[in-house]
Amino acid sequence: MKKITILIPTFNEEEVLPTLMDALKQVTQSIQQYHFEFLFVDDGSSDDTITLLEQFHTENSQVQYVELSRNFGKEIAMLAGFDYADGDAVIIMDADLQHPPEMIPELIHWWEKGYEDVYTARKEKAEKNPFKRLASNAYYTILQSLTSYDVHQGAGDFRLLDRKCVEALKNLRENERNTKGMYAYIGFRKKALEYEESERAAGETKWKFGALLKLAMDGITSYSTVPLRVWSVVGLIISFFSFIFLFVELFKAVVYGSDVAGYPTLIAAIVFLGGIQLISLGAIGEYLARVFIETKNRPAYFVRENSIEKNKDSTERD
Ligand code: UDP
Ligand code: MG
Repeated sequence: MKKITILIPTFNEEEVLPTLMDALKQVTQSIQQYHFEFLFVDDGSSDDTITLLEQFHTENSQVQYVELSRNFGKEIAMLAGFDYADGDAVIIMDADLQHPPEMIPELIHWWEKGYEDVYTARKEKAEKNPFKRLASNAYYTILQSLTSYDVHQGAGDFRLLDRKCVEALKNLRENERNTKGMYAYIGFRKKALEYEESERAAGETKWKFGALLKLAMDGITSYSTVPLRVWSVVGLIISFFSFIFLFVELFKAVVYGSDVAGYPTLIAAIVFLGGIQLISLGAIGEYLARVFIETKNRPAYFVRENSIEKNKDSTERD
């Protein structure tokens, strides 16, 4: 019997976990021909999430959990999940029921048809906050134009990955992760499905604006070197024009005589170039920071406790 691991990164989700568990049990009970495992990665929750998970685990042998030593962020929590999941396929979903569990049979259906990365994209629903909508659209457009990989707008982490994809993702060990770009990077046979995102079942979003901005920056700096390279082109263009400008000024000075006018243009030029230099320095800094972090080569996460190891130990002792 094939094994499917449902991987759920959880961070302070005590309110929603019981509902999620019920929904998962209900959906998977109707699919008898697979062995399901529910693997929760507790991303350093400060509420009762871990107590709940331990309880689920004792009640139901299908439930396993990995508790990280602190909050590492969803991207790292997913990596930990990939490391511990041993299913023939892994389905990633959020704990808050924004990813409809009813779609699980459909994901499996396409997997059986031979697709290795069955992903889902939110149906474009009118985002209430116009600023957020604009920012999201702009970001996808920029990311798409800077990288050569096909990044599907609205495609999230709710997807089924074949073991081959999971192994590939496990090999991409950078600590500053942007998994969305990685799915595109690894390739494999992909199938897109659409779903309508519902509101969070309980609790509130765990994302802060700063974290989103960081994820967006990581997305660009990990898949594109354009921001690093574009400055030589900008520099060339600016030098070219200032050269022409210089000639014109020289010509004017020779023909009409020189005057001290032009103070504003001088300041404008200095400020403009100063700005460009700061931006380009900033771009280099972004990449340097990545290099710095990755060369330390630290493990991406630490595990405080996990139910899988516990099981192994107890069977070995017997
Ligand atoms: N999450 C996590 N670590 C974090 C933040 C979030 O594991 O640092 C989990 C969270 O528990 C949920 C999923 O990632 O299962 C998505 O988070 P959330 O629903 O808050 O994000 P949104 O849907 O608002 O993008
Ligand atoms: Mg959510």
